[in-house]
Parts: sequence; structure tokens; C-alpha cells
Amino acid sequence: MYQIIDGKKISQEIKDELREKVTALKGQGKQICLAVIQVGSDPASSVYVGNKKKACAYIGIESLAYELPEETTEQELLDLVQKLNADDGVNGILVQLPLPKQINEEKVIQTIAPEKDVDGFHEKNVGALCVGSKGYVSCTPLGIIQLLKRSGVEIAGKHCVVIGRSNIVGKPMAMLLLRENGTVTVCHSRTQNLKEITRQADILVVAVGKPKFVDDSFIKEGAVVIDVGIHRDENNKLCGDVDFEKAAPHASAITPVPGGVGPMTIAMLMYNCVSSAEQEDQVQ
Ligand code: NAD
Repeated sequence: MYQIIDGKKISQEIKDELREKVTALKGQGKQICLAVIQVGSDPASSVYVGNKKKACAYIGIESLAYELPEETTEQELLDLVQKLNADDGVNGILVQLPLPKQINEEKVIQTIAPEKDVDGFHEKNVGALCVGSKGYVSCTPLGIIQLLKRSGVEIAGKHCVVIGRSNIVGKPMAMLLLRENGTVTVCHSRTQNLKEITRQADILVVAVGKPKFVDDSFIKEGAVVIDVGIHRDENNKLCGDVDFEKAAPHASAITPVPGGVGPMTIAMLMYNCVSSAEQEDQVQ
């Protein structure tokens, strides 16, 4: 029988721990403030932004919402980011992606002051992760490490295979697993003999962006399977990059969709915001 790795429960534990920390920080006169910028009104982005604001309210973090029109120019957005960079009352800045096509996302990300980049996307923070120094780490992979640790999954010495090499998930995931002393293989769209590699994984992280891509034929008996994907299937039901029904009976532990990795991303964003006020950096 496989264990379900319950991201809803674990993210709630983390949020409750953070709430206590924020209360203590307030007692010392420290307020935490996150600025959330959304450009345009993409419905999925609006849901994500709404959830982030809700999490801030729960934990006791002040959130400043900037809702800019779809036709906002790159310069207008850069000016706002610079203004928030200079504002001592703002600890963290988050620009909800994707941005409209007239705006260069990379330019915006690199304009956020690294010490306020609670998404962990700035080159300085990515570099810090690679060399093992202090910095913010991308929230989704950071949350996956917490899911594994808090579910009693040993990473050290294990063969960890990551499918996907995006800057937001795959690459930082690989670096974090390496930091935890895993033996890491990264697979991507040009990987040959993918299943041969994934069938060697003790821990398989799937961030491929294709619904139900991974079935039982990818999985070694008893592997731990982490599903990062979020999609709607043909019946409009949420599903992941893993075909749960087929994969789960072969896994020792697996994350569901919904209720697995998804809730962890926001919890770790909150973690990064609290760290910004505590002058800490990463979950150990
Ligand atoms: P992405 O599209 O940027 O990257 C997908 C990766 O998969 C690429 O690196 C590509 O090389 C690899 N890939 C594509 N086809 C492949 C194939 N046939 N074989 C092997 N590798 C292949 O996606 P992303 O931003 O990394 O996100 C991945 C998934 O995770 C998406 O479904 C996304 O919606 C989801 N996501 C969820 C959260 C969350 O909070 N739960 C956060 C971020 C992303």
C-alpha cells in the first residue's frame, strides 16, 4: 500500500508555524509586507494572486496589491518595481507571471532587488543556490523538499530523477536535491531512453507539463513519486503530469493532484516572506 503525501496538511502545518513566527516578530515591532503585482486579468493569475493574498492575511503578512491594466508598458512596470525596491516598508516583491507580450519578463525579474525577490527567480538568488550560499529559492521546488522531509523520505544517497529543466521548477529542484545529498539525474525533451532512466529513480519528480504523461511503465517498484503538473483532463477534472491511478500502486509514496505540490508553493512563498524579515534564507 502506498503513502499519500498530503501537501494540504503539510502546507497548513508550515503556515501555522509561520503565523506564530509572524506574531513573535510583530511583538518585536517588525511588520512584514509583500507587494503583489498583476498585469492584466488572466483568470488563472487572478486565482493565484487571490490565494497569495489570502495566505498573507492568514499568517499576518500585509499584502499590497497592484492591479495594472493589460496595456501597461514595460517601462511603467519597471518604474513600479524600482519604486518598491526603494521602499523600506516593503519586504518582498512578487510579479505574477505570465506578463502580457509587450513586457520582457526576464528584464522585470532581474529588476527586482535580489533581497526582495521572494520568488527566488533573480540570477543572484539562482547563483546563490548553485554555489550553496544564502538566497531565496524558487517556492515550488523548496516546497517539494519540505514534502519529502516531513513525510520521512530520506534523500541522501538516493537516485533522484527530475523530468523537466525549467528555471522555475526543474533546475532549482535538481540543485536542491543535490544540496540534500541526492544523486541527481535531470531528464528533458531531448533525453533518450527516458523510461530506462526514470525506472532507476528512488525519487521521481515529474515537471513535464503534460497531463498524465508518467504511468506505471516509468516507475521502479517502491519509488517515491512527486507530481508537479496541474491540468484539467477531458472531464474538466484537475490532474497532474502523472497518471495517478496507474502509477500509485507501484509507488511507496506519491503526491496527489490536487492537494500535493500545489499548496506547498504558496506556503513556501510565505516562508520566503517571513525569512526576509528574519534575515534568514532557506529551510534547512
Ligand atoms: P515547462 O513547460 O517550462 O517545462 C517542461 C519541461 O519538461 C521542459 O524542461 C522540457 O524539456 C521537459 N519536457 C517536455 N516534454 C518532454 C518529454 N517528452 N520528455 C521529457 N521531458 C520533456 O514547465 P514548468 O514551468 O517546469 O512546469 C511543469 C508543470 O508543473 C506544468 O504542468 C505546470 O503547470 C506545473 N507547475 C505547477 C506548480 C505548482 O505550484 N504546483 C508550479 C509551477 C509549475
